[in-house]
Amino acid sequence: MAEHRIVPEVDRQAASQRALERRRGRASIKRDLTTRVTTGQEVLRQAVQDPDSDAATMRVTDFLLALPAIGTGKRDRILEELHISPVKRLGGLGVRQLAALSGWLDERFPPHSARPGRSRLLVLAGPTAVGKGTVAAHIRESHPQIHLSVSATTRSPRPGEIDGVHYYFVDDETFDRMISDDQLLEHATVHNKYRYGTPRGPVDAALAEGRTVLLEIDLQGARQVRAAEPSATLVFLLPPTWDELVQRLIGRGTEDAEERARRLRTARKELAAQNEFDYLVVNADVATAAREVVELNSGSAR
Ligand code: 5GP
Repeated sequence: MAEHRIVPEVDRQAASQRALERRRGRASIKRDLTTRVTTGQEVLRQAVQDPDSDAATMRVTDFLLALPAIGTGKRDRILEELHISPVKRLGGLGVRQLAALSGWLDERFPPHSARPGRSRLLVLAGPTAVGKGTVAAHIRESHPQIHLSVSATTRSPRPGEIDGVHYYFVDDETFDRMISDDQLLEHATVHNKYRYGTPRGPVDAALAEGRTVLLEIDLQGARQVRAAEPSATLVFLLPPTWDELVQRLIGRGTEDAEERARRLRTARKELAAQNEFDYLVVNADVATAAREVVELNSGSAR
């Protein structure tokens, strides 16, 4: 008798644990959609591919609301237009509804397409804490044929950083002189604090030798490079999920709470700029992301 009472209790606990995990999973997908770490098309693909995925259990109403610039009014009009009942979950959509929703997504959020004829000047940018530096360092180690540009900066070296290898550490006066002598291909003040810039000479020399040049710079710098060298290949590094990005930022432990909050706000804004880039690479694994970046450029014209 006692056994009969215990088993359902255990089942109930397991079921509520599963429900909790599901809710967490769906909340995580919503954050990824809101922050543009993932696309509506990708979430829909997961829901169709795996009926047991968190994506499949997501209500179509919540899904639409998590997309950029879709409020409740717009959401309800879209559902009506696509003949989808608001109680539906992504995994329960019929074939025609799926086709209608996916067609609407492609129209509203056109899939990313790379521009042809990119040059060997590669720019790697992405939101704060996404791991640009780690991916760039991996490329430096494993692909020595690629010239990794060494930036000038006004910040002080961190332990282990070597002048001329990781950065050229310069004072404000020297940085000003580099700007006025037109020695910098681009430069920006990052996180409202220190200035960073790409020395033009070594980049030009390496390109002239036919080498691929990689710049690991911030978004403002990437935009300047695009303006100065429209054929540059712009690569945007994405985190696997928004939660992972937050974790990486906190895990690093080098910033205080206020600074972390500010960087997260910046990261959200930076993620919204991904459409300006030629390629998106997800940094789930450093070696894989590094290889993808290198291979992107192997077929370039110059
Ligand atoms: P950190 O101080 O952590 O090494 O770098 C801070 C930020 O500065 C990173 O987002 C990095 O991409 C960016 N950064 C590094 N070098 C340059 C540069 O030459 N130009 C620009 N615009 N940003 C840079």
